[in-house]
Amino acid sequence: MHRPIFVCAFLTALGALSAQELPGALRSRPIAGCRLPATESAFAGQRWTGGNVPFEWAANVTPAMQTAMRAAMAEVEAVANVHFIPRVAEIDWVVLRDSVINSSSVGRAGGPQLLHIYNWNSRFTMVHELMHVLGFWHEHQRPDRDQFVAVQTGNVEPTELHQFAIVPTAATQGLPYDFDSVLHFAQSEASHNGQPTLLVLPPNQGQQSAIGQRTHLSSGDVAALRRIYGSPTPPVLTAVTPGTVTAWLPGQVTLTGTLFDEVTRVLLDTTVIAAFTRPAPDQIRFNVPSLLLLGTHTVAVESQTGRSNAVSLQITGNEPPVLENVPVIVRGFPLGYRLHADASRTNVLLASFDNVPTAVPGVLQLGLGAQFTTLLQIGSGVGGANGQWQVPVLVSSAVPSGVNLYFQALVLDLQAPVLPLSVSNLVTTRTL
Ligand SMILES: [Zn+2]
Repeated sequence: MHRPIFVCAFLTALGALSAQELPGALRSRPIAGCRLPATESAFAGQRWTGGNVPFEWAANVTPAMQTAMRAAMAEVEAVANVHFIPRVAEIDWVVLRDSVINSSSVGRAGGPQLLHIYNWNSRFTMVHELMHVLGFWHEHQRPDRDQFVAVQTGNVEPTELHQFAIVPTAATQGLPYDFDSVLHFAQSEASHNGQPTLLVLPPNQGQQSAIGQRTHLSSGDVAALRRIYGSPTPPVLTAVTPGTVTAWLPGQVTLTGTLFDEVTRVLLDTTVIAAFTRPAPDQIRFNVPSLLLLGTHTVAVESQTGRSNAVSLQITGNEPPVLENVPVIVRGFPLGYRLHADASRTNVLLASFDNVPTAVPGVLQLGLGAQFTTLLQIGSGVGGANGQWQVPVLVSSAVPSGVNLYFQALVLDLQAPVLPLSVSNLVTTRTL
């Protein structure tokens, strides 16, 4: 039968419970260790979707016990996106039972799973068990634990040896070994002779009497919880820099905010930005897609906890306008020339042959380049809502190959025409 294992460090936790919370018989229960089952189901370590853990009370759990357990649940819910919710009809759930041991499956096991609680009088002993429910193994079962503690196998109760086995799948979440973890055994836990079962190795011997605390969730426990389930609140977006981006030109913006290490995706309006980088812990950077409608857009980020606030990102037209370069054009085949300018303005595409050096008076005053000697209007139209205007250009087969063509566009603001006109860059295209 179970023999309670006393751990002196646990006694401080008793003070956290008021006399009203538990009847005297419960308050006097000695603090027992944790009895993980020797084997786990195939689903061991499975996460609870959305951090939602449905549960129900077994018939032998009193209201006072429920109150005490709810306080333990609140400790976890306060630091992570975890919600212990009374079961309605969920197919996987936890059944809490008053028992002679503290014991839990590790992770969502599938179907009903029993959570045995003996120490309703120790909030963080219950938190320890809830951490098992959420998928966490004992800290001293990490694959790298031999660098930090030495198991004194000869002092361990033979039936409890499996509690000291390294679990290869016990993910460390990339976090350092945590002597302060609520999931660490105390130095003499599960001992059959009172001698230590765990010795802290150099250079951390100072932690020898500290291991096994059941008074709080350590910073490492909180970090591990958040790596799996996220923080209790979504990320917060404080700024997007720059706040205005020119359409089409390569645009990159940097978001600043908090809880960015948990961001799983970036949303531009309703579009998911799959590719982003994290130049700093509080920064996320991504390229703004081209051809967005000019005007105000919104940016938000999401973690598994939820979506952040939204901030505005302005997309403006190109000023001066930009003509995309088309290096070669095959005579007899139409090719689209794209101009990026403000929306709703009238655009005119002009061309010139380099072998027709006719000077056109007033060209420079219009703002066109000096090479632009002969004006051939190719087309005109009104820019689209995304600040782009495309005009097909067809160079006749009668034009010789190997000729340089110069293209430049004018943008006319018919509402307020001013000189010099807004003109694009000059692109040079060779005929083939
Ligand atoms: Zn345990």
